[in-house]
Amino acid sequence: MARVLDGAAIAAEIKSEVAQEVKLLAEQGIRPGLAAVLVGHVPASEIYVRSKVKTCGELGLFSEMITPPETVTTEEMLALVADLNAREEIDGILIQLPLPPQVNAKLLLDSVVPEKDVDGFHPVNAGRLQAGRPALAPCTPAGVVQILKRSGIPISGQHAVVVGRSDIVGKPASMLLLHENATVTICHSKTRDLGAITRQADILVAAIGRAGFVTPEMVKPGATVIDVGINRITDLAEFEKFFAGDGKRAEIFSKRGSTIVGDVHPKAFEIAGAYTPVPGGVGPLTIAMLMSNTVRAARMRRGL
Ligand code: NDP
Repeated sequence: MARVLDGAAIAAEIKSEVAQEVKLLAEQGIRPGLAAVLVGHVPASEIYVRSKVKTCGELGLFSEMITPPETVTTEEMLALVADLNAREEIDGILIQLPLPPQVNAKLLLDSVVPEKDVDGFHPVNAGRLQAGRPALAPCTPAGVVQILKRSGIPISGQHAVVVGRSDIVGKPASMLLLHENATVTICHSKTRDLGAITRQADILVAAIGRAGFVTPEMVKPGATVIDVGINRITDLAEFEKFFAGDGKRAEIFSKRGSTIVGDVHPKAFEIAGAYTPVPGGVGPLTIAMLMSNTVRAARMRRGL
């Protein structure tokens, strides 16, 4: 039976450490602060941002939600970020994606000062991460490494195969695993004979954005499988393809009309030695690492 890596429990552990750190900083008169910018009304984004702000409150961080209208211009957003860059009580700036098409997302993300870039998306932080310098690393990949470490899964010397090369997940995950001394292979949509490579993985990280893409034949028996994917399925035939015979899921699906599946087919988890479920695996780590990054930014900005 494969071991389930409980992301929610690990996230709770990290959050309690962050709360502890916040208490210690309070003794020095410091309260880390996060500004979350949410443009327009994208329901999924609203849920994410609300839960980030709520978690700040639970852990004792200051937070502020800024909600420009859907029609906001790039210039207005740049002015908003410039203001947040200058404000002393703000240590972290989070700009929730996606942004409306008229806003130049790259220009805007690059305008966040690297010291407050708690999402770790700024090229300066990407460069620092690659160069092995202290950096704010992107939250989801940092969470992947925390899951492995805190579950006692060896990384050093292991062959880690990362499927996906996005700037947000795949690339930074590969870099972080490399720094942990894994031998890393990065795969993407142009990779030839993907299965032959994924089958060599001791640690397989799937960050593809395609429901159930990694099938059992692509997994080495006993491997650790980290499923970063979040894909909502609403089609009953597709549901059956992944979850036939899973009564608990069927109940959720019939109640909500949808369920979440990762980038790994649930049957592939049966081959694994350990795996992160979806939901409840990597997902909860993203917010925990955002909190951790905000406290880190607060300390780094003050030279602590
Ligand atoms: P992107 O779409 O930016 O990147 C997907 C990557 O997968 C690309 O590098 C792409 O290759 C690769 N890919 C696509 N199709 C194939 C294929 N057939 N074979 C091999 N590689 C392929 O997605 P993200 O990195 O942003 O996200 C990945 C997944 O992680 C998504 O499901 C997303 O929802 C989830 N996610 C989850 C988070 C969490 O908190 N748990 C946070 C962020 C993302 P190429 O570069 O060649 O196009």
